[in-house]
Amino acid sequence: MIIVFTEEAREAQVENLKRNMESLGFVLSEIAGQSKRMVGLAGDTSVVDRESLERYDFVDRVIKVSEPYKLSGRNFHPQDTVVDIAGSAKIGGGQFAVAAGPCSIESEQQILSVARDVKRSGAAMLRGGAFKPRSSPYSFQGLGLDGLELMKIAREKTGLPIVTEIMSVEYLDVFEREVDVIQVGARNMQNFTLLKEVGQTGKPVLLKRGLSSTIEELLMAADYILVSGKSQVILCERGIRTFETATRNTLDVSAVPVLKKKSHLPVMVDPSHGTGYWHLVYPMALASVAAGCDGLIIEVHNQPEAALCDGQQSITPVFFDKLMDSIEKVRAAIA
Ligand code: PEP
Ligand code: MN
Repeated sequence: MIIVFTEEAREAQVENLKRNMESLGFVLSEIAGQSKRMVGLAGDTSVVDRESLERYDFVDRVIKVSEPYKLSGRNFHPQDTVVDIAGSAKIGGGQFAVAAGPCSIESEQQILSVARDVKRSGAAMLRGGAFKPRSSPYSFQGLGLDGLELMKIAREKTGLPIVTEIMSVEYLDVFEREVDVIQVGARNMQNFTLLKEVGQTGKPVLLKRGLSSTIEELLMAADYILVSGKSQVILCERGIRTFETATRNTLDVSAVPVLKKKSHLPVMVDPSHGTGYWHLVYPMALASVAAGCDGLIIEVHNQPEAALCDGQQSITPVFFDKLMDSIEKVRAAIA
């Protein structure tokens, strides 16, 4: 961290602040500037409140050099993290996994049919929402705990681990007991209470990037989960809001190599929510694989035109099978 003083800063003010910082354990060094005096601070500056230093009228500004996240950063943990999914799949460190399934669990017949199909095509996890974060309160909200029971049946019949979204700490116990990967959705990426609580479960957490969140904010959110030292985190790029209206969101494919450079955590991509259209899922899934993602999460429905949620961006099991084939080819080509 660098403190830049104003040209008017008096010697006594600078020396006083320097002494305070030294007493907090920081190692200080003067940086020669053309007109302004600067002091570099070495040590754990994450505990220093930048704004409180900028309140002094003799401080021009404070520049943070190190990242504001730690636990999710590569500096802290250089090797790739490999997340174990219920002992049946691994993601990260060169291991690739696909989660597939409907946006929402609708019925036993629907979830079982999709689960069997995606398993046959090589999916490693079954996705499906029981508690749905819908923009409109009048839209289908999911089957809730009944939906979770249906997911458990699908897991039992197919052996696929289940990934589903938690919306509130109210159901933390049941998610901890029953769910293999707890999904924190885009809308809850900065629900810090929820993040801290899911981190206590010890279950892997699939953390989706917020609709308007920066990569730095995503990594700080991951730190909230990791601070418990219990749960592992999988990051997920799922598109961000931009001025573009031709797609539901703008899938930030460049987030993949950026995240892989900054963080040791596995990175998944959701081209379904990332684009909003079923015909864009295939090209953007392959683009994400080429960009180096560790996994994908894909909405698959046995009858997309009749889906209660996100049918327009859901692909059929037949098309999913073709996609899985192409994913293997892209992976082989970039290996
Ligand atoms: C989902 O995956 O079901 C979902 C709602 O995604 P997001 O949180 O990315 O919108
Ligand atoms: Mn959806």
